[in-house]
Amino acid sequence: MSGRLRQSGDPNGHDVTATQPNPAPSTGRDGKGASARRLLASIHDVSPRSHSAVDALADRLQGHLGGAKFAMLVIPDHWREAPIAGNAAFHARLREWADQGIEMFLHGWCHRDETPATGRLAQIKGQHMTAGEGEFLSLSQVEAARRMREGKTLLEDILGKPVAGFIAPAWLYGPGALAALNEVGFALAEDHMAVWAPGQAGTERRVVSRGPVVTWASRSPGRIRSSLGFAALARHTLPVLRDLRVAVHPGDVTVPALLTSIDATLARFARTHRPSRYAELLG
Ligand SMILES: [Zn+2]
Repeated sequence: MSGRLRQSGDPNGHDVTATQPNPAPSTGRDGKGASARRLLASIHDVSPRSHSAVDALADRLQGHLGGAKFAMLVIPDHWREAPIAGNAAFHARLREWADQGIEMFLHGWCHRDETPATGRLAQIKGQHMTAGEGEFLSLSQVEAARRMREGKTLLEDILGKPVAGFIAPAWLYGPGALAALNEVGFALAEDHMAVWAPGQAGTERRVVSRGPVVTWASRSPGRIRSSLGFAALARHTLPVLRDLRVAVHPGDVTVPALLTSIDATLARFARTHRPSRYAELLG
């Protein structure tokens, strides 16, 4: 979708000057510069309803990245129609993926924005950028923290280890969600333009990577076209950055042109950037 690709300004109202991309370090004769360049890939919207598409995407990513060097974003109850609680078969699958080394992020609770849009900005973002998928855009801090804690506990009980972090649906965080992130305590979070370590115990958040995420949308012919255009541009222009981020969605597997574009983008980025785990950004 075009909203995910929007490059002008920071969609979350942060100071844009504070989120300018990091330039890539120059590659010295010893080649050490190349290893400092990272490729971070993720599969969004992992839930029982997307199981087979996620399997197909995971195979595809492993092929390009040379192993399970990517993340999955898990939704505890997608649209309140696909609860992972009580689904033992899916729990086993999540553990298998995590045991392979795939990083598991909590990705909202239900993914859908269920609050009435009040402010003009919330209305614009919720309706035009996300088609109502910005679950954490309008939540109060109390409600955002409640859903984060519940999801974190659920997922960590299933996995038997801490989640890698929290990423809001459609990368949209309202003020309540940002405050709740600091309160609940996650190692990492990200939006369209940055990855950061949320502040804890009153400390400020720490941005650990800057630069736009490359993603695709399968929802309509217009959005498919714009994502293909942005990915083609990204293949040429973004490799100057230190870190590259790529995000794929279950719906991408239904559009062959998107899969071709995803393949071309991962192949190009993996040539100059080392497939990495998000946790390395904290090192
Ligand atoms: Zn999502």
